[in-house]
Amino acid sequence: MSPNLISGFILLFFLGASIASFLGNISFRLGHDRPLWGGRSQCDHCAKPLPWWTLIPVLGYLLTRGKCAQCGRKVPAKYPLFELFLGATLCLGFLRMQTLAADGFFTTDWLYAGYFVFIVWIVSALGMLAIYDIDYLLILDRITYPAIALTALLKLLLPGASPTALAGDLLAGVISAAFIWFIVRLTRERGMGFGDIKLALLVGLIGGWPNGLMAIWIAFVLGAVIGLLLVAAKQKGLRTQIPFGPFLSIGGMISFLYGDILMHWYFSQFLLI
Ligand SMILES: [Zn+2]
Repeated sequence: MSPNLISGFILLFFLGASIASFLGNISFRLGHDRPLWGGRSQCDHCAKPLPWWTLIPVLGYLLTRGKCAQCGRKVPAKYPLFELFLGATLCLGFLRMQTLAADGFFTTDWLYAGYFVFIVWIVSALGMLAIYDIDYLLILDRITYPAIALTALLKLLLPGASPTALAGDLLAGVISAAFIWFIVRLTRERGMGFGDIKLALLVGLIGGWPNGLMAIWIAFVLGAVIGLLLVAAKQKGLRTQIPFGPFLSIGGMISFLYGDILMHWYFSQFLLI
């Protein structure tokens, strides 16, 4: 890799991690009914303002060894992990764009730039819903509904877009939502709730037709594996609720970015295309 590309990826990583840090902050303010903007970031425990360097994504956590610089209270590891995750996802998205560009997918620089903005959008929207679900076990309609509308609108501007293609993507969303609805009914809302149904609609729409359908499958596999690992590590008991939203969000990102590649690989295993 050229030095330019490497510094590009480092910048992208910090962009993704900074978005995650911002979303974590918004999630906290939403959950505590605080104003979304303004005011300095403060420790949840001692309420003292945090020094600027502790707010640097990922690095701040490492420099303070995961403690509040003022009172020493432990900061949950979920925040730096979320930052790492979104940073890495943005890098993966950009990597995928390079292979698409090599295939001649982007006919103009505007489409290339627009596609990047779309990736930033879905990483932010799915990230927001995921971190809020992790924090409060709730998926907010007031985020999901506008996100569905804006995603549908933006999809019409992507390369190869058409109303028919959008209808197909919406169908993937509706089928995904119907499937989760069925599970919610079957389990009487014990594992998942109605928020997951709406998130499944968004995730199916993002993944598109037919890749979006894979998102639900990825979410279940990831949820089962991580749920079992958490139980094995005694982090969670068998009865504690594990939010399903983050798994749906990850499924949505993977199916959007790498759905084509995964589909091709999956079917080539069985059908030898
Ligand atoms: Zn503190």
